[in-house]
Amino acid sequence: MAANLFSLVDINLDDRRSKGVIRSINPSNEQILAEIPESDIESVERAFEGAEKAFKTWSKTAMSARIELLEKLKNLLLEKAESMAELIASEQGKPISEAILVEILPAIDALDFYINRGEKLIQTLKVRHWQVLFREKKGYYRFDPLGIVAVISPWNYPFVIPFLDVVASLFVGNTVVLKPSSTTPLVGLAIAQLFKEFDAPEGILNVVIGRSAVGEVLVKHPKTSAILFTGSVETGKRIMEMAASGVKKVILELGGKDPAVVMADADLERAANGIVWGAFMNAGQTCASIERVYVHEDVFDKFLELVIEKTKNLTIGDPLDAETDIGPMTTAFQRKLVESHLREAVESGAEVVLGGKRPFDKGYFFEPTILTGVTHSMRIMRDETFGPTMPIMKFRTLDEAIALANDTSYGLTASIWTRDPNVARKFVENVDAGTITVNDHVFSFGEPEGAWGGVKDSGVGRTHGRFGLLELVNLKFVSEDFTRRKTQFWWYPYDSELFKLAKTAGFALYGKSFGVKIKALTKFVPHLQRLISTTGMWNLIKNFKRFV
Ligand code: NAD
Repeated sequence: MAANLFSLVDINLDDRRSKGVIRSINPSNEQILAEIPESDIESVERAFEGAEKAFKTWSKTAMSARIELLEKLKNLLLEKAESMAELIASEQGKPISEAILVEILPAIDALDFYINRGEKLIQTLKVRHWQVLFREKKGYYRFDPLGIVAVISPWNYPFVIPFLDVVASLFVGNTVVLKPSSTTPLVGLAIAQLFKEFDAPEGILNVVIGRSAVGEVLVKHPKTSAILFTGSVETGKRIMEMAASGVKKVILELGGKDPAVVMADADLERAANGIVWGAFMNAGQTCASIERVYVHEDVFDKFLELVIEKTKNLTIGDPLDAETDIGPMTTAFQRKLVESHLREAVESGAEVVLGGKRPFDKGYFFEPTILTGVTHSMRIMRDETFGPTMPIMKFRTLDEAIALANDTSYGLTASIWTRDPNVARKFVENVDAGTITVNDHVFSFGEPEGAWGGVKDSGVGRTHGRFGLLELVNLKFVSEDFTRRKTQFWWYPYDSELFKLAKTAGFALYGKSFGVKIKALTKFVPHLQRLISTTGMWNLIKNFKRFV
């Protein structure tokens, strides 16, 4: 590994003793980049102790101080952008230009968003009590931190996913224990190093290194308040089960089998450019990659011709070369999975019209591959392939395309390519997904306002933007009563008078007609004294319109 890459990572970050070693492998040449000691149980425990101690002060830190921290982080990241992108390209394999575009820039954008808009999103929010009997009280919401958030992240976006999860968690006052993927530990450690370099308050971010067993310790740990997990459906389900015994909050960002639908009126040049990028960027290893393409029969041949031509022009090679379009896949395992989906599809009648092979002897490279003749009985159209494949099917009507798009256990993202806003709207209304984009795909992960997450097997909860922040807080409802009233309408003693009034109150407030309301109100007349003393004369006058 080049010396400047090591400058981002302090492998001896702490004195963790280790039973095992995690190997970081360069996927473009299969060489070992580094061997990193796996965190043992004592070092995980220290991480939680650090996070717990830091929470006491960090959770009370003024917003201005948190924003100052994000400013420093933003400047540091701007300074380190190129070397961080080199590290990502070396350990995970995405081309360096892409690493800057899809990992570093979105992280800087999100920091800028929180710095400029974040405070407003979690400011105390006043609300008026709705029930007339409660109207004298003052209500508001506080967005309090939850405690320690366990962030467990995957290898496909080794920087931006954990970084954004950590930043959002910290911004609302939580502290974090982060476990990056064991496939990309160096990038995870580089995040820890960034925090160390600008003297972030000790203990707000604690990085532990390990495989699933370490992840399980984080999930089950009694000090964990919430788990922010990004990874496969299988692991997500396991985490949800484990979290249940501790009644811990779980946010799951899981896999996808995302469709792109090309209508006959689409700008085919744009659709072909966008779909080639959406399917092949990061060698197809993106949760929101386009994994299924449905093209209207009238433009099928033309679209196929265009995507073949554009894919042929892509440069596969060294991820450290700024002109490379497609780097290696990240692991040998993932490439084998892609090959097995392809083999099974071809055996069942699909045709590989481009690609389908390993282009080099060394490295986990795989050619961007286009297939036709696929059906929904094939795994390549059902299961997440997570590789550089573009299976294409024909359709006749929009209804048919919508049914095909929904014929999946996943629901992360989907796109439609059309010039007709009405067609787009129908697609948006009828396709089950967390994000739908029109004439584009995948990019919205990088939009700081855009909530990120899925439905069905693609997960629960959201990250990013205002709704992502709201997942990470204790939404505390506060109701204050500083009146001098000695009792309330619904307090003891229960007696037959209260019983009658309680029965009548519903009709007085919510009766179907004016007549029903008036009839109910007259029943209050003999008991006005009780009503006024518990609810307030002025309050009743002010809200009289609610009764009529
Ligand atoms: P994975 O589920 O194998 O691992 C993810 C993380 O979980 C890793 O850090 C891993 O060590 C840890 N882990 C594994 N078993 C665990 C357990 N039993 N308890 C606790 N932690 C455990 O996923 P992966 O292969 O790293 O990532 C690829 C998957 O992630 C794909 O399915 C992809 O679609 C999904 N993904 C989803 C999003 C999204 O935002 N929805 C983003 C990126 C990736």
